[in-house]
Amino acid sequence: MTELASFIAGLPKAELHVHHVGSASPRIVAELAARHEGNSPVPADPAALADYFAFRDFAHFIEVYLSVVDLVRDDEDVRTLTYEVARELARQQVRYAELTVTPYSHVSRGIPAPAFCTAIEDARAAAARDFGIELRWCFDIPGEAGLPAAEETLRIALEERPDGLLSFGLGGPEIGVPRPQFKPYFDKARAAGLRSVPHAGETTGPGTIWDALRDLGAERIGHGIAAAEDPQLMSYLADHQIPLEVCPTSNVRTRAVASIEEHPLPALVAAGVPVTINSDDPPMFGTTLEEEYAVAAHLLGLDEAGVADLARAAVTASFLPHAGKERLLTEIGDYAAGHA
Ligand SMILES: [Zn+2]
Repeated sequence: MTELASFIAGLPKAELHVHHVGSASPRIVAELAARHEGNSPVPADPAALADYFAFRDFAHFIEVYLSVVDLVRDDEDVRTLTYEVARELARQQVRYAELTVTPYSHVSRGIPAPAFCTAIEDARAAAARDFGIELRWCFDIPGEAGLPAAEETLRIALEERPDGLLSFGLGGPEIGVPRPQFKPYFDKARAAGLRSVPHAGETTGPGTIWDALRDLGAERIGHGIAAAEDPQLMSYLADHQIPLEVCPTSNVRTRAVASIEEHPLPALVAAGVPVTINSDDPPMFGTTLEEEYAVAAHLLGLDEAGVADLARAAVTASFLPHAGKERLLTEIGDYAAGHA
């Protein structure tokens, strides 16, 4: 391990853009598959799973992703998945994570919303106790499922309102899923005190990001890398301090960006756009949050102090209350000072 890699490994971090099911590692998937052995195409043997997880293309990624969603069949599966994802984040010194959860996917497969929310809250409490990690939730609309999914996601968010729920999101494909149609749902979620964090400008142009800002009241943007094509938008994001949740490896794996060397992260940083570094669906994209920090350090030419600043940026962009931010910023500062 290089010196910078070991600095990153020990650095206390916040993760703001990581999906719940998308975080299921081969180890976790094997555990779920074993529970439903013989009743799922997913192999329960970790060695066979490594092959199963080797994506041929984006369509294959979606196929594998959905087969993992399909393994989450009852509230005990939800508890296991959430708790084990927290274990893997905590291992990377993630102290605080806003996990994107898609309740619609699970409730529409037959897990009742109250049982689902109780399971994630149980796992949140157990993870804080056992691993020292604070989890919070972003409930996102799977955009491809349209307005009925928006309606149901909003209903679950407002009726169940689990204690860890902070924000309302919108994921899935952008092409053919215009953002403005979701305005009424975001209006209601925001009126109820949830923060707005839609994905936008991942696979489409800057216009989608403008839509997310204007129509959905976005306070942070999931991905948002297309902003690099629009200087006016970059100025707007910089002036209003609206952070982007950048996930470099994901963008290459989904072909949103042709190669890591062509990633727009340096252009965004040069324009003063607040950026945070995140992992999206890490095991499915063959990455980790640590690896994403290393990739960002390479793209931006950062040393240890620069990498510590990236960790600070995620804390600042988080929806932690002031005292929580101060505590984590102090911890990052102490760690960096110990390595200076
Ligand atoms: Zn995402």
